[in-house]
Order: sequence, then structure tokens, then C-alpha cells
Amino acid sequence: MIPSVLPTYSRAPLSFVKGEGAWLIEADGTRYLDLGAGIAVNVLGHAHPALVKALTDQAQALWHTSNLYQIPQQQALADKLVDATFADTVFFTNSGTEACELAVKMARKYWYDKGQKDRVDIITFSGSFHGRSAAGIAAAGSEKMVKGFGPLLGGFVHVDWADHEALTAAITDHTAAILIEPVQGEGGIRPLPDQCLKGLRDLCDEHGILLILDEVQCGMGRTGKLFAHEWSGITPDIMMVAKGIGGGFPLGAVLATEDAASGMTAGTHGSTYGGNPLGCAVGCAVMDIVSDRAFLAEVNRKAGLLRQKLEGLIASHPDVFESVRGTGMMLGIKCKAPNTEIVAAGYKNHVITVPAADNVIRLLPPLNLSDDDIAEAATRLDAAAASLS
Ligand SMILES: *Cc1c(COP(=O)(O)O)cnc(C)c1O
Repeated sequence: MIPSVLPTYSRAPLSFVKGEGAWLIEADGTRYLDLGAGIAVNVLGHAHPALVKALTDQAQALWHTSNLYQIPQQQALADKLVDATFADTVFFTNSGTEACELAVKMARKYWYDKGQKDRVDIITFSGSFHGRSAAGIAAAGSEKMVKGFGPLLGGFVHVDWADHEALTAAITDHTAAILIEPVQGEGGIRPLPDQCLKGLRDLCDEHGILLILDEVQCGMGRTGKLFAHEWSGITPDIMMVAKGIGGGFPLGAVLATEDAASGMTAGTHGSTYGGNPLGCAVGCAVMDIVSDRAFLAEVNRKAGLLRQKLEGLIASHPDVFESVRGTGMMLGIKCKAPNTEIVAAGYKNHVITVPAADNVIRLLPPLNLSDDDIAEAATRLDAAAASLS
């Protein structure tokens, strides 16, 4: 008999009733160190007082109106994002994949309005992940995601990750945009070197095409800058954000320059819930903390500490682990033992990590975890690895 919850997930036998900072707690009181943060969502950990206050204050005042009316919390969050980034304008969604939908529509509309109606192709990369909507799966294009789902949304051109020649060859006068994650998440924590991101920007400028960055996973302080592309000094034309921006409340956004967004006039796009007062009240509280320089400096310091611990761990367990990769608090350990077994051994030692492609385990902890939490992470991962050797 089919379960009452559609069985599209293979879930771990863990169930939590409470969260405190970087810790998740089961009904019997067992505490797990959460190095997954709900897949890079809980950027400030669980039950952060400022977020709890923002949400409960807003819940007592007003939950939902509609985008038919002014929404001050949405305006405030858009202003914060515009102040802190390359963007001139923001549209709010509820998720990352909805942000992908709009990014694709925006890029196509841009060219349509410029009279270049055939410029509809979006170039994407192997190993990428852009969510599970029709545009998201067509963009990523992996067999695992698209098989059996009928005709795919057209207009996506897939190129191998980091194959500059193939990319250059793929650009035609039908190309509207290039869409890429500055650090691949699901694909196994693969950072695009800064030089390559710069090269991509140059290539886009040379051909006059749009650069869309998917910072759904790597954005919101995850790499130690507010957004990952800031490390390379370039800016995109359009950027997708979600996951961390709501700190656990479902929220996403598309950020764009005035030029890239020029086709998106009244009536061209919309959302019932996107930018709702609850989500945006929390989003404002997240932004106030995460965009702070001193906070980001601490993220970088702690990320260095965590990485150092992981290097030590690899040296002690060469039969289980191979190498560390990634950047900031977006770290991957390439494994020798099967990654799912290591994740399961972590559960037994009450530490949570997340598997990714390429036999990698991901560490995407709350950005504000403590130095003690980092020491505890090393101890527990060490015990997990020892149980496998
Ligand atoms: C998670 C993710 C998405 C999809 O976000 P949802 O909120 O699950 O729709 C898109 N892009 C990247 C890079 C992601 O990590």
C-alpha cells in the first residue's frame, strides 16, 4: 500500500522535535550535531532568538495579504538586498526552483523585448542542480531527474563542467544566457575557480549574453561572503537565491540588474505567497545578521578552523576519506568508503552530514556554530570513521 506521504524520499530513521543552535533533539532527548542545517537552510541554526522574534511578532500582526497590495516587509527586504548586492530589483518566491523558473523567463523576455525572439537558449552544466520544476530539471538535464517525465522544456544546452572550449563552441546567436552555480552543491561541492567565473563574465560580455548565477545553496554567507561570486569580483545579471535567505522559513528570490529585468513589466509574472509578510519579516532578520561584516569575518575564521579539523580527520582515516574540497562553510569530503555508509555511521555517532554526488559527504553547518561545536564535529566524525575502518 502506498504510504500516506508520497514516497519520493528515502528518509533516515531520525525524527526531531526541537532544535537549539547547531543541535537537533529527538523526542527522547538524544542530541545530534547538525552539520547539514537542513541542506544549507538554517544559516543561523535552530531557534535563533532574533528569527523567532521576527516570526512571532509578524504572526501576531498579519500573516498574509496578497501581492495585490503593498507589503512593507517585502519592500524592506528588497531594499536590503539591493543595498548589499549588484542587484537593482528583486522578485520573491517560496523556493529555489521557482527562482529558476523566473530567471529563465526573465532572460528570454529580455531578448524578446529587444527584438531577438530566437534568443531563447540557456547554457547549463553537467552536475548542476536547479530544483525540481519543469525548468529546473530541464536545466540540469541529468537522466536521474528527467527520465519518465515526458517532453522536457526546450531551450537548454548542456555543457561539461569546466570545459571552456565546449562552452565557447556552444554559444550561438540563439544563446540567451549562461546559468551556473558558483559552487555546485548537489553535484558534490565543486567550486568554480574565481578565474573561471571571471572568464565566464568576459565571455558573456563579449557575446552580449546574460550571466545567471544560481546561489541558492552557496549564497547567504555560506562561502564567507554574502554571495559566492563576490570572491571573484564579478557580478551576474540575474541571481537565484533561496535556502539560507529564510533561515528555515520557505523563501526565495531572484535578484537582477535593471537592464536584465527590463522585460518583466506588470502582469508578466506573479506568485500568491512569494514575498509574504511572514517570510519577509524573517528574511529581514536573517539579512541583518548575515550581511554584517563582523559576522562574515567570524564565518571565515570558523570555516578555517573546521577545514583544518577535517584535514586532520582525513590524515587519520586515509582508508575512509580522500580529500576535502569546497569553500567557507560549504565543505565536501570526497570519500573512499561509500558516502551513504559514512553518513549512516555519523547518525550512529549523533552527527548529521548530507551525501552529495561523486561520493562526497557535505558539511553545510549553521554559519554561527561555536568553536566547541566544531571540536565536537571533529570528535564525532572521527568516531564515525573509526567505526568503518
Ligand atoms: C536546493 C537548490 C535548488 C532548489 O531549491 P528548492 O527550494 O528545493 O526548490 C536550486 N538550486 C540549487 C543550487 C540548490 O541547491
